[in-house]
Amino acid sequence: MKGQRYVLANFKMNKNTGEIKKWADQILQLLYKRHEKIRVRIGVAPSFPHILTAKSLFYGTDIMVGAQNMYYEEKGAFTGEVSVSQLKDIGVDFVIIGHSERRKIFKEDNELIEKKLISAIRYGIIPVLCIGETLEEREKGLTEKVIDEQLKAVEKIPDEMTEIDLVIAYEPVWAIGTGIPAKPDHIAEVINKIKNKLKNKFPKISVLYGGSIDENVAKEIRHVCDGGLVGSSSLDAQKFFKIAENFQT
Ligand code: PEP
Repeated sequence: MKGQRYVLANFKMNKNTGEIKKWADQILQLLYKRHEKIRVRIGVAPSFPHILTAKSLFYGTDIMVGAQNMYYEEKGAFTGEVSVSQLKDIGVDFVIIGHSERRKIFKEDNELIEKKLISAIRYGIIPVLCIGETLEEREKGLTEKVIDEQLKAVEKIPDEMTEIDLVIAYEPVWAIGTGIPAKPDHIAEVINKIKNKLKNKFPKISVLYGGSIDENVAKEIRHVCDGGLVGSSSLDAQKFFKIAENFQT
């Protein structure tokens, strides 16, 4: 058993309904123009108000639609939150958990992220757990320690849940939105460590890279990871599609 290859678009807090329709249209045209099936699973995570629109635009295709966040409780007095069961109800395929922007701006800690991770798994939504060190941590030689700490959430997943599709996105914080991707050697080293640590417990694990991916980066790193989580370059459908094609092995 092996994890699948994924190329996932994280729109963050960008795009309105019209822009999403145009993006979906372009992606579908590019897909239909190909002579053979693309060998990566493509997904897109728009903002909450656009998830249903994206679901209907990609209905009947293999394109996955995800959410950028969720709350772990099923329902209740949590004003402003969107629950895991609400995401399940509208057919969300995957959910990004612990993105560095949520850790930093919204002060999400490993304890909260662990609850979200386990809750997503219980509801059968593919979790895309983001981990990665800051520049300061990297400069202090703490990368491995930080990753180990962030992976404790995964180690706490109960044994009866380990047959799931688990997606980890290694996203060094210093590479996100900076135009400076990590070097392939660095990505390979960290991703190998993550895989060696988790592959026995999670046979269907996929480890993606994220951080300033463009089409050249995708081509360069396609053999050292199982795909990518793409921010800025995903906003342009042509660029995103090229990235997805370049991640094929
Ligand atoms: C991200 O935010 O997950 C990301 C990878 O962003 P960017 O591609 O813009 O670096």
